[in-house]
Amino acid sequence: MKSYKFIVNPIAGGGKAKALIPGIERCFRDAKVEYDIYWTRCPGDGIEAAQKAALEGFDVIVAAGGDGTVNEVLNGIVGTGSSLASIHGGKGNDFATAVNMPLDIEAACQALLKGKTRAIDLGKVMDRYFINSVGVGFDAAVALRVNRGIRPFKGVSAYIYAFFETLLSYQVVEIDIDMGNGPLKSTPLLVAVGIGQAYGGGMKIVPDAIQDDGLFDVCVFNNMSRLGLVYHFPKVFSGRLNQVKQYAGYRTRELKLKLSETRPLHMEGEIFFGDQMHFTLQPKGMKVISGDFN
Ligand SMILES: [Mg+2]
Repeated sequence: MKSYKFIVNPIAGGGKAKALIPGIERCFRDAKVEYDIYWTRCPGDGIEAAQKAALEGFDVIVAAGGDGTVNEVLNGIVGTGSSLASIHGGKGNDFATAVNMPLDIEAACQALLKGKTRAIDLGKVMDRYFINSVGVGFDAAVALRVNRGIRPFKGVSAYIYAFFETLLSYQVVEIDIDMGNGPLKSTPLLVAVGIGQAYGGGMKIVPDAIQDDGLFDVCVFNNMSRLGLVYHFPKVFSGRLNQVKQYAGYRTRELKLKLSETRPLHMEGEIFFGDQMHFTLQPKGMKVISGDFN
């Protein structure tokens, strides 16, 4: 029988993850399964806690939080034998969605206990691993604004406010994009790189991405008018943004971006800054617990 360590971010989703813990404890006690809980104290704490848990021999490390918590746990357990799991405990739960983890906590516990273990592709950029998605450009500028906090807005309204504020001020940057055939000069609105299909809490930016095909799905979205963007942007939620003519989709194992100036990159709820971004992929490099049953 497997053992489980929960890495809980008590402030994720405004306390959403924290509220799920009693239900999880009930379920795991009833199932007589070995488990332990760790509460994170500050940003970055989850990495060390997950690494420690993996070294202690826990089979499954469960990120109880949003995508930011998933990313920390991932970066703690890469290279260990432990599997990654996640429940819907944050504002954005795109990884949990991507592996079909149920929303209902009891069903999610059953998935954690009996769900199929799959190996999915593992991405790396700027010395940090990712399991779902990364964006550079307009989307990262929006994410940066949201992360810095927009009073009095929270949740989806904060994203909408940040979207419009960014829309008014955003300046495109020149990016050399190299997928192995030499650099292509461009000034796109954004470049998104996905193993999973969605980011930002359900925006299907690379709607055809397959998690274990050994390839990144890449979206290069070319610049368009502000009005056009307001009109077309909602299509990202239904996975139809790729029908817009400014959308160019690619599949590649490796990708190099060279920006004419330092800009933010958003990775699963975290923001990093850089002007050179080298994306590499390790096929089926991470074991994950899915909501699928054998
Ligand atoms: Mg893929």
